[in-house]
Amino acid sequence: MQPRDLSATSPYVPGRGIEEVARDLGLDPDELIKLSSNENPHGSSPKAVDAVTDRAKEGLHVYPKAAHTDLTEKLADKWDVASEQIWVSPGADGAIDYLSRAMLDPGQSVLVPEPGFSYYSMSARHHHGEVSTYELSKDDGFSQTADLVLEAYDGERIVHLTSPHNPTGSEWTRAEITTLLEAVDDHTLVVVDEAYGEYSERPSSIELVDDYDNVAVLRTFSKAYGLAGLRIGYGVVPQAWADAYARVNTPFAANELACRAALAALDDDDHVDQSVETARWARDYLAENLDAPTFESAGNFVLADVGDASGVAERSQAEGVIIRDCSSFGLPGCVRISCGTREQTKTAVETLNGILAEVAPT
Ligand SMILES: *Cc1c(COP(=O)(O)O)cnc(C)c1O
Repeated sequence: MQPRDLSATSPYVPGRGIEEVARDLGLDPDELIKLSSNENPHGSSPKAVDAVTDRAKEGLHVYPKAAHTDLTEKLADKWDVASEQIWVSPGADGAIDYLSRAMLDPGQSVLVPEPGFSYYSMSARHHHGEVSTYELSKDDGFSQTADLVLEAYDGERIVHLTSPHNPTGSEWTRAEITTLLEAVDDHTLVVVDEAYGEYSERPSSIELVDDYDNVAVLRTFSKAYGLAGLRIGYGVVPQAWADAYARVNTPFAANELACRAALAALDDDDHVDQSVETARWARDYLAENLDAPTFESAGNFVLADVGDASGVAERSQAEGVIIRDCSSFGLPGCVRISCGTREQTKTAVETLNGILAEVAPT
């Protein structure tokens, strides 16, 4: 007995967990600073934690029907769209799957950024799709434009954009996105992944779903809302085909606790504001103080060009600061450093500068 041929799909490699690293180093997890997975250093919204605790006490024996409906309606209200247009999902990753299910016939292709978020291509392959790439250029500061995508575009069914982009931090402008939406073939859906949208100063592409029926936008509660452990996100899609959700979503995949937590988090402006403010401070601090070239970032992380990414990441981890070696993104010279609290970020910069001084003495 064997599964189908999965050789084209590389396994997803997450940043290493803090317990895992602490065990390897023989340290207490509290002594480590984890800046490798773009998680929220302020934790979850306290209101969300209360909502989860209360809900758990009331019991979890009932399918999440009302919670899912309430969350959908609250999000529809927030973004001023109809509730069918909100595709609640287990993480934004779940919404990527729902869009793959809704759009891809076997053998159709998706176009994804390189470097980029690996789940776009994994999801396409799960759904018997093919994958091609458009390359963001390091020399060009990883800038993202319609021309760049259109040069690689060959009528793919889905084109994935990430803004702010992971791991580089670069963004799309509204004008470049609309140029692309108008240039692609009628059957092509452009998906704008705004997992880091809260940290950006630019308006959301959700504003475009009224005027264009070939755009969908992804959002998550994993980053600015600090709910990565609960797996809750959503897509926003045009009205014209929004009813496909009822046919493609896994029944009750967004769980009761996650929906309740998301509802509470949406009411906790203080927590999101603080999270965003810290991230904006930290990315400026990293850009100004790290002794390595960095790329301008609109997310809660900064990509730095350190030369030997795996060496620097390994040494940094040994000194208690876990960062992301971007070799697996195809950037063997770069590390991605998530924004920590002010204190964590300062410690990280001090640690990294010590390592950089030794590996590349100036
Ligand atoms: C973190 C991330 C996501 C989604 O994460 P979920 O936890 O599944 O919501 C999506 N896209 C990018 C680019 C990300 O970095």
